[in-house]
Amino acid sequence: MSGNEQQYVKEAFDTNWIAPLGPNVEAFERDLMQYVQEDSHIAALSSGTGALHLGLILLGVKQDDEVLCQSFTFSASANPITYLGAKPIFIDSEEETWNISPELLEKAIIERIAQGKKPKAIIAVHLYGMPYKVREIREISLKYSIPVLEDSAEALGSSYHGVKCGTFGDVSIFSFNGNKIITTSGGGALCTKDKNMKKRAIFLATQARDEAPHYQHSRVGYNYRMSNVLAGIGRGQMEVLDNRVNARRNNYFYYKEHLGSLDGIGFLEEPKGCYSNRWLTCLTTRSKEQREWVRLALEEENIESRPLWKPMHLQPVFKNSLSFVNGVSAGLFERGLCLPSGSNLSRVDLDRTIEIIKRVIV
Ligand SMILES: *Cc1c(COP(=O)(O)O)cnc(C)c1O
Repeated sequence: MSGNEQQYVKEAFDTNWIAPLGPNVEAFERDLMQYVQEDSHIAALSSGTGALHLGLILLGVKQDDEVLCQSFTFSASANPITYLGAKPIFIDSEEETWNISPELLEKAIIERIAQGKKPKAIIAVHLYGMPYKVREIREISLKYSIPVLEDSAEALGSSYHGVKCGTFGDVSIFSFNGNKIITTSGGGALCTKDKNMKKRAIFLATQARDEAPHYQHSRVGYNYRMSNVLAGIGRGQMEVLDNRVNARRNNYFYYKEHLGSLDGIGFLEEPKGCYSNRWLTCLTTRSKEQREWVRLALEEENIESRPLWKPMHLQPVFKNSLSFVNGVSAGLFERGLCLPSGSNLSRVDLDRTIEIIKRVIV
């Protein structure tokens, strides 16, 4: 926490705005809008997952539709597809950013169209804060008229050719879950250029109440609005977002400086024009065996590290889903490791981790 969160939370108590609406919600949306892009429209919601769910609805996804989704991601990117009775089709990654492969994406679109099933949406993810290939994905989206739902849950503060992530989708989302670069303990946001889409998102997020003095509903709604108390935390967090990004980027540079030349160890570089918030610093090893040496050596010293996300096409829950794969994400899952990456790590903390890894990699 920055320290200022409690002031905003106190304001919520003092003014008795303990509700899923209120001045903090509006101010937090304004702070986000000013940070990301002045002409964006932002709805603060109860989670990133809820934002993805509403995003799919806004893009017209319905029962039995097909949605193309980056396979290398956290399950929350894909789960909302199934909430709607739609079907995910998983697309593997390219090596440069670890995100959705434009080649495989286009191949999947062509094949599905040939089968008479044109996909309804594309979910692309800026994994670990690294921007996906925005230009290439947008070109495919325009060529085939399939909208993009941009999962920017891990990429608040990242940018692509100077433009902030969270502004590249037909609909985009953020997460403020406890593990993200800034947090409201739990929370999310939906971001769009279309004012009416924001209105529609808030309508759906507040139980889809029609305009009437009584409670009237013409369709099914959801309870996805952000609490005014939690939005107070978000306002305090926005004040330190850029500090957090700098701290995370410094973690990355420090690890890379001290570990980058070890045999078999690699770090993901920023392609030209990409600026990553480096939410988590990840390294790759030569083999699964080498990865496990590192992980277990850290665990022995009570330092937690974790394998990279297990791709969705390898998850038991999605075993019947179609996928277009090239081995990239499966390889990263086998050989990759997320290092301790908190914004509050000291040099001493980092050095401890580095020394243990150096001892194992000889
Ligand atoms: C955290 C995360 C989400 C979900 O956000 P919640 O706020 O936890 O619901 C979605 N996608 C990705 C890639 C995430 O990391």
